[in-house]
Amino acid sequence: MHVKLINYTKNPERIIAQSARVCYSASNIQELKKKLDQPAVERIIKKIMKLGHYSVLEHASFTFALEGISRVTSHQLIRHRLASFSQQSQRYVKIEGEDFSFVIPPSIKDQDGLKSIFTENIEQLKATYCRLVQNGINIEDARYILPQAVTTKIIITANARELLHIFRLRCCNRAQWEIREVAIKMLKEVKKIAPLVFKNAGPPCLSGPCPEGELSCGHPWSKNNLNKE
Ligand SMILES: Cc1cc2nc3c(=O)[nH]c(=O)nc-3n(C[C@H](O)[C@H](O)[C@H](O)COP(=O)(O)OP(=O)(O)OC[C@H]3O[C@@H](n4cnc5c(N)ncnc54)[C@H](O)[C@@H]3O)c2cc1C
Repeated sequence: MHVKLINYTKNPERIIAQSARVCYSASNIQELKKKLDQPAVERIIKKIMKLGHYSVLEHASFTFALEGISRVTSHQLIRHRLASFSQQSQRYVKIEGEDFSFVIPPSIKDQDGLKSIFTENIEQLKATYCRLVQNGINIEDARYILPQAVTTKIIITANARELLHIFRLRCCNRAQWEIREVAIKMLKEVKKIAPLVFKNAGPPCLSGPCPEGELSCGHPWSKNNLNKE
């Protein structure tokens, strides 16, 4: 799996702080910008994160390139309606060669007997896909045979507010392992660019009680998780 931050709003914390200042100041926007030194940016970001004045976070966006994730995970990701997505099409792109790869969940990979059953079946599905295409079936129809394990490429853009929401849900131990891995990699990338905004990003148990009730995993997160995973 490859998760790479490929673009983002220049000086994201600065534009967030500037937007917050506009809300509470009588000065014109250019004057506000001049007065905004780094200590002021830090002070404002800390304040808005504490107050929950999250709408100003929407002025900073981040774009990620994801490769080698399964269609299971891309389907979970695209449920996040406030993010934007561009995904490699199975209608227009014939899957072949190295691109014809698939994800094996660790629970299956770790068991020799089961791993071979899994891969044999996948190979059979791959062979059927190729056979259908060779026999003149359009790839948009041949793809119906493809398993959810097949890998995909996707570009995701989301603003900082939506990313905080995604990290809250998807870094959580209740999220599935693969999307959790994606979310943690994304979080590590954005922390380097906007450390104040994403300082406390992650599942809700980082900052309070778990809201999952009976479904709670029982293992509250710590910030060290980011270093471990
Ligand atoms: C552990 C886990 C298990 C899941 N299991 C299932 C499952 O079994 N079945 C299933 O279908 N899905 C499941 N999901 C997906 C889940 O239901 C959401 O679709 C997904 O997490 C996207 O979250 P969201 O809607 O909060 O976020 P986004 O779409 O990213 O939206 C962000 C926020 O914007 C607001 N918003 C967005 N659109 C609207 C709207 N139309 N109206 C009002 N407010 C809006 C909401 O406050 C929302 O939280 C699961 C998710 C997780 C994390």
